Amino acid sequence: MPKAHNWQLGREMEFPYEAGFPKRQFAFVFNINRCLACQSCTMACKSTWTFSKGQEHMWWANVETKPYGGYPQWWDVKTLKLLEEANPDGQIWSGKVSDDPKQPYGQFAGKTVFEAGQKTLKPDSARVLGYLPTDEEWNLPNIYEDNPVGEKGAKNVYHRDGAQLPVHKTWFFYLARICNHCTYPACLAACPRKAIYKRPEDGIVLINQKECRGYRKCVEACPYKKSMYRGNTRISEKCVGCYPRVEGSDPESNGQPMETRCMAACIGQLRMQGLVLLNPDGTWKEERKNPLYYLVHVAKVALPLYPQFGTAPNGYYIPPRWVPREYLRQMFGPGVDPALERYANPDRELLAVLQLFRRSARIIFSYEIQEGPKVYEGELNGKPVTIYNDTVIAYGQDGKEIFRTTIDEPVYVRPAQHVNSL
Ligand code: SF4
Ligand code: SF4
Ligand code: SF4
Repeated sequence: MPKAHNWQLGREMEFPYEAGFPKRQFAFVFNINRCLACQSCTMACKSTWTFSKGQEHMWWANVETKPYGGYPQWWDVKTLKLLEEANPDGQIWSGKVSDDPKQPYGQFAGKTVFEAGQKTLKPDSARVLGYLPTDEEWNLPNIYEDNPVGEKGAKNVYHRDGAQLPVHKTWFFYLARICNHCTYPACLAACPRKAIYKRPEDGIVLINQKECRGYRKCVEACPYKKSMYRGNTRISEKCVGCYPRVEGSDPESNGQPMETRCMAACIGQLRMQGLVLLNPDGTWKEERKNPLYYLVHVAKVALPLYPQFGTAPNGYYIPPRWVPREYLRQMFGPGVDPALERYANPDRELLAVLQLFRRSARIIFSYEIQEGPKVYEGELNGKPVTIYNDTVIAYGQDGKEIFRTTIDEPVYVRPAQHVNSL
């Protein structure tokens, strides 16, 4: 089997095809500290792409309550169990979190879904370790919504010390998900028809509807369960990365790349999507002023979802601050502790970049910070902190300014006649 460099694992790994990389790669960062599970993203996708007969069970974008929720139900628990069986010595990471772009999280010593599949699966029509969810598991996208971990509560009584940072005793969090448009897509690797392809211009992973025969190998193989089978057409479908918007061919976009529907609809302002440049080995090319590059590779606050699966997902998450670290390390890898430390004590640049989320539906290609006056001096988490009212300016693909915003959000005072109105 050919070898490919997977920088998220810090090593070469086996993949059924020679590695090939797009000109730019579709990627996104979700700051799930801010998600309120309003499901606006979910509905934006549903009402755009999956409102037809036979797509009733299809939620290309979904938001599930962790740890108990999941769509399809138990998707990650089941995949982790398979990986655990394939890695009897544990899913071990070695080395250290570092500035080396080829192994920023150290090295994953266990087997990925590609490597484990080779050892355990027969015949070779099954190339990737996975499983096919049951029909029932696709039925309940909101199961266990808002169900916390912790002691059983009493009616109308708050837990006295259940909610204290750094880790809450009673906790849950919302995990927003779409297809990760993986660098090494398991869906693509598993398709016996070669019906799945990665677009060379933006790395969006699509299923050729004419070539697909509905064998559901992609559904079985995708460890994130983001490829879905449509019973009435007998063809599989998945998130299309809203490619007309990304291309700038949507009538609303005026020829400029726009963020997808689920990103643009986000009420919590936690989603940012972009297009990043790659090196010949699949690592990210240094683009110091691209906000995604900054969040993933400089500030290192945004981490891949289940990197140990081995698909090199292009979805990155700022982990929720209040959740037990062991759980987060399993979900986001060894980068969790430094990421949370940095997020809880942001420097001047990180504070500015965090303001870029959801001020515009245009894709941001670079940013610039203009320094402003000191507006606050005090203490945060036991450390001294100074806040400056810097201005951050976002630029599009054409190098023109999209918008500018400040750290200090303006305060609007409602006129007296509107005090009690919306
Ligand atoms: S998340 Fe799943 S469906 Fe999407 S590209 Fe990766 S393997 Fe394929
Ligand atoms: S990128 Fe587009 S198609 Fe994909 S989940 Fe978001 S809205 Fe749906
Ligand atoms: S729209 Fe944003 S805040 Fe609302 S559920 Fe989706 S990710 Fe969370």
